[in-house]
Amino acid sequence: MPEGDTVHKLAAALRIRLCGHITRGLKLKRLDASALVGCKVSNVSSHGKHLFLEFENGLVLRSHLGMYGAWHQYPPTEAWRKPVWQASIVLETDQRVFVCFNAKEVEILPAQGYRLVDARRRLGPDLIQERLAPDVLVGRARALLGPEVPLVDLLLDQRVAAGIGNVYKSEVLFLEGQPPLAPLAATPSPVIVALFRTAAELLRRNLQGGPRVTRPRDDGRGRLWVYGRAALPCLRCGAEIQRRTMGANRRVTYWCPDCQGSSGGGRTRRPP
Ligand SMILES: [Zn+2]
Repeated sequence: MPEGDTVHKLAAALRIRLCGHITRGLKLKRLDASALVGCKVSNVSSHGKHLFLEFENGLVLRSHLGMYGAWHQYPPTEAWRKPVWQASIVLETDQRVFVCFNAKEVEILPAQGYRLVDARRRLGPDLIQERLAPDVLVGRARALLGPEVPLVDLLLDQRVAAGIGNVYKSEVLFLEGQPPLAPLAATPSPVIVALFRTAAELLRRNLQGGPRVTRPRDDGRGRLWVYGRAALPCLRCGAEIQRRTMGANRRVTYWCPDCQGSSGGGRTRRPP
């Protein structure tokens, strides 16, 4: 599942292969891409889970992979590993074909236009690329979200800070010993800061490549603390890991009832 670390690595890889190259062909699902054909790519950047392909003529192609999106690249004559109808973006250069399958969002923006400014303003600071100012972060959280909003929704809200997806959400709540359904109003500001700092650390630690890891790499007990471990014993206390869909987006959350609170919203106890 693409999270901020995945998109950051993707932007770096695409930057190397696309910058300075001219688009010989570009097809977008449901959008006219003719304004970008024959243009040189000037930069590829990311912000949270959004990817921006910037062109020399001042236009920007913004995409968001959502839960199922993926970029592939192929030599011009090679068969694709997914069906053509799943292609959201097909970008051809002289040497390669870059295909983005199953994107959640694709749009063309003017670089200096109000929509790009607006798209970036709606995103909080990028947890990988920007330093977190604790008071600004807490201020954004409390100003943007109601007091009853649970922590699962706080962490996924890209307006507060950009980059956390569903895997890191569960992992960060476990590492900070927080009940997933604890309301924002009952969560002290230092805890909010700690949650985002831990998320930023994990996102940066996973930029090296290989599968996503939130645990010590060398103990042979798995890569993640709770995500995907429903009904298995907690790696800290042995209690059975719980799994339930929670929050406004009905996303799956994994948690330890002993380390984080039995109902997901109960008592708070930091893991030892
Ligand atoms: Zn536990």
